[in-house]
Amino acid sequence: MLENYRKKRKFGKSKTVTPEPKPGKIKKRNQNLIFVLQKHQAKNLHYDFRLEMGGVLKSWALPKGMPKKVNMKNLAIQTEDHPLEYAEFEGEIPKNHYGAGSVKIINQGNYQLIKGSVEKGYLQFYLRGDKLKGIYDLIKFKPKKSLKSKQEKKDLWLIFKSK
Ligand code: MN
Repeated sequence: MLENYRKKRKFGKSKTVTPEPKPGKIKKRNQNLIFVLQKHQAKNLHYDFRLEMGGVLKSWALPKGMPKKVNMKNLAIQTEDHPLEYAEFEGEIPKNHYGAGSVKIINQGNYQLIKGSVEKGYLQFYLRGDKLKGIYDLIKFKPKKSLKSKQEKKDLWLIFKSK
């Protein structure tokens, strides 16, 4: 589950090391599941939205952040699973590292899954954060054929704010 996370990062012997958390043991929990929204000023500014599921953080990059109004839909590109410890991470990823730039937590809290799963390509959940509150939907969509890269075809979702 975290192989892609590990593969993309240099934790060990290189001259500069990323301060990001090195994955530990996966601990599955069923209660008090957490979410986090991180502002990531990388080459392109985006927001990383992560939900704890199955002992890891399922992750999506949101170029425009979370939808603020009901029925607004924002693009969410699924990225590699992150370790749970990442929910506490803030800091500066050094140059020449994957995701180089600053990471800042802008909201965190607990969430409750209402229905769906990542495998089904549909999730509905309730966020209980200090700023973000309410029901949201994440829906995977099939992009147009004009998109060329495999990545783009596989990982595109939309995030909605429901009533
Ligand atoms: Mn990011």
